[in-house]
Amino acid sequence: MKTGENLALKSFTTFGVAARAARVVEIDSPADLARCRFEPATDLVLGGGSNVLLAGDIDGTVFLNRIRGMRAVEDRGESVLVEARGGQLWHSLVLWSLREGLSGLENLSLIPGLVGAAPMQNIGAYGVELSEVLERVEAWDWQQGRMVEFSTAECGFAYRDSRFKSRDAGRFFITRIFLRLARHFTPRLDYDELREELGRSNIAAPDAHQVSRAVIMLRRRKLPDPTLLGNAGSFFKNPQVSAAEAESLRARFRDLPSFPANASTVKLSAAWLIEQCGWKGHREGDAGVSDRHALVLVNHGNASGAEILALAHRVRDSVLERTGVRLEPEARIYPETRT
Ligand SMILES: Cc1cc2nc3c(=O)[nH]c(=O)nc-3n(C[C@H](O)[C@H](O)[C@H](O)COP(=O)(O)OP(=O)(O)OC[C@H]3O[C@@H](n4cnc5c(N)ncnc54)[C@H](O)[C@@H]3O)c2cc1C
Repeated sequence: MKTGENLALKSFTTFGVAARAARVVEIDSPADLARCRFEPATDLVLGGGSNVLLAGDIDGTVFLNRIRGMRAVEDRGESVLVEARGGQLWHSLVLWSLREGLSGLENLSLIPGLVGAAPMQNIGAYGVELSEVLERVEAWDWQQGRMVEFSTAECGFAYRDSRFKSRDAGRFFITRIFLRLARHFTPRLDYDELREELGRSNIAAPDAHQVSRAVIMLRRRKLPDPTLLGNAGSFFKNPQVSAAEAESLRARFRDLPSFPANASTVKLSAAWLIEQCGWKGHREGDAGVSDRHALVLVNHGNASGAEILALAHRVRDSVLERTGVRLEPEARIYPETRT
């Protein structure tokens, strides 16, 4: 367990904003957790920092998850139970599972960050969410000082949400997850964009590797690469509104993209709403809105977290004023008093 005092955090998040932490602790094994205390008001767990905006310094401790590894733990023939530890790079897990002849993660290729953060917001992409393949989550309960397990049903998963992100935020350190992956591949091609990408390569009946490669190509084209331009992916969630509300919005904005979320709610495209308000490609100093994807806020170099947050508030307020729809952040903002 390595520790450091008064460390710069610029390279710890994909936004690449300057901030400092009073203390940083690297967690290498579950045993390290038993030796630490977590103060929810000031402390923070960081994985790859790809879904976080640091709007100021962290007065407490930043815990870094360095518990790595992945392996098959049970083979039922048609499916395999895979254990992945929280400090493992998510995309390396996806690639490893494909090499092992297992499918289920291909649509989630190239999502930045570490395995331990994946349940936090039930990561999802191209019509698939983590919750569909997750069997259980193991976590250290800071409150009770012991390891606990949650079945998928107990995780409170929803669109970009879970109990770990909402009602139990700051209570658990996710140490490992268990995934049920399939030997027989069933393609999930609900997204037009994904089918079109495969079509461009004349692939009508793709295998899991081809779907993964198509997802990677699409993501590289659509999203700014955080190693070149600081960002945290989608800054806001796609808002979900009632069917009646969606209908009245469509009467005013005829081209508004919307998708059924469940029986009673409709998901709207936050990127479209932001673009309608003229923000795409907008820049204020080094804080900006991506010119490739209006949902992505970017750091052109030396923007502070506070400047990016102020821009996010202006985007949110203008969408609310013009459309009546309130955008909620998908990224987590720290210190939490700044949200
Ligand atoms: C270019 C880009 C594209 C993206 N695309 C997608 C996408 O398609 N779909 C999607 O869902 N997300 C996407 N994201 C967001 C992000 O990659 C995911 O949310 C990812 O799971 C975050 O992982 P991380 O390790 O970087 O988490 P961090 O950013 O370090 O942390 C995120 C949150 O989880 C908490 N946390 C992290 N690790 C643990 C742990 N072990 N135990 C308890 N709490 C923990 C943190 O405290 C924080 O609240 C994208 C981000 C970028 C930059």
